[in-house]
Amino acid sequence: MKKYESFSKWFDELLLNAEIMDNRYPIKGFAVYKEWGAKIVRKIIEMLERRLEETGHIPMLFPVAISEEMFKKEAEHIKGFTSEVFWITHAGGRKLKKRMLLRPTSETAMYPMFSQWIRSHADLPLKIFQSVSVYRYETKATRPLFRMREFLWNEAHTAHRSWEEAEEQVKQAIEIYDEIFKKLGLSYYILRRPDFDKFAGAAYSIAFDAWNPDGRVNQIGTVHNLGENFSRAFKITYEDIDGVQRHVIQTCYGFGISRVLAAIIAQHGDDHGLVLPPEIAPVQVVVIPIPYKGLEDDIEKYSRSVYEKIVSAGFRTWIDETDRTPGEKYYYWEMFGVPVRIEVGPKDLKENKVTICERVNLERRTVPLEETPKAIMEELGKIDKKLREKSLSTLREMTINAEDTEALKETIKSKKIARICWCGKIECAERIREESGGEIRGYRVNVEEKPEYKCIICGRKAEKVVYVAKAY
Ligand SMILES: [Zn+2]
Repeated sequence: MKKYESFSKWFDELLLNAEIMDNRYPIKGFAVYKEWGAKIVRKIIEMLERRLEETGHIPMLFPVAISEEMFKKEAEHIKGFTSEVFWITHAGGRKLKKRMLLRPTSETAMYPMFSQWIRSHADLPLKIFQSVSVYRYETKATRPLFRMREFLWNEAHTAHRSWEEAEEQVKQAIEIYDEIFKKLGLSYYILRRPDFDKFAGAAYSIAFDAWNPDGRVNQIGTVHNLGENFSRAFKITYEDIDGVQRHVIQTCYGFGISRVLAAIIAQHGDDHGLVLPPEIAPVQVVVIPIPYKGLEDDIEKYSRSVYEKIVSAGFRTWIDETDRTPGEKYYYWEMFGVPVRIEVGPKDLKENKVTICERVNLERRTVPLEETPKAIMEELGKIDKKLREKSLSTLREMTINAEDTEALKETIKSKKIARICWCGKIECAERIREESGGEIRGYRVNVEEKPEYKCIICGRKAEKVVYVAKAY
């Protein structure tokens, strides 16, 4: 399997072989998370939810069904989502008097309740989240994890007294996502979307676009300031200190769990299989006994004691005592992306040592048994760093400064991300899409970039440095 020769074939095979996901479910756009995938997903959710709770968000769980009446309250929102909605129209043989829909996102499920719960300034800020599946009838070709009709995400929704407080919340949300994506070793651009591409109903939208080997960026998270758009539609008001009724200012942000898993596989994986960041690896260390003629029992016993030692140090550990050959075992656990392998052979037994092999570069070293837990800890820390550096250098290599339309076309054609100067006009944005097949993803929010030349299309003064790519 060659990742860079045929990305989608490599990706699909890996999903199946490493027991991440089975895409053969008999409904298009719906798929099964298998053991390894489900365990990784659980770890990602744990990481994120822990951080959300630490920063004052509280968990809730809202129904999957939304009434048509509520869904239609915010005009822009309904325009943005209506073509992707799964409707619930019948119960048994009867047609329902009032249609319902499966949530494509939960604003219109949550905000009618917000208007009941929020009465005074003392009820604010309200910050809630849930990790659930959402449903969108995607008309573009579906792809497992990247683009599905049912996908897992975490959505947070907040309400505030003022625009300034909401702005602070947007910043905090960006920090939380940035911190978690970095811990997972991912690289991406944090971009403010152009107005024509913002979330339906938002004042503005910011998104995390992760690189992908096939050149299509993968939006793994979004953060929106909703302003008063929804609080006006849903009449979410509070009584301020001065006794005046005011509309709350809202934000919402979504963390694409399926897509983050896709990014981890796509950015870190190699021709041997997955490479998992230690924090989310279901197994962090695998112990592999290497039997030797005449020493079978001794090696088995020694391997067991090595295994016990690592388990008691708190690492998620597995010992492979199957009948497979050591070579087959290496191959197998490399495919599952286990960060550290401990090999226990006759020489290790004799010298009271173990051999450590790390997954990123498959480099080996030998350490005394006593120092094994410490050495594993070091290796895991280094893996985090190596993954982050490797991924970041790929993002840099993939980004090409394109100063004219020919360079832009060539960049998108060669599966890369173009950095261009743009005047801000929608006609030029359309031309960019027509000419190159890529779309303007936005300008960076955490790095200030001043245009160095004129708009790549019309030659007038450029307003922004923007990034252009194909997208999932
Ligand atoms: Zn222009």
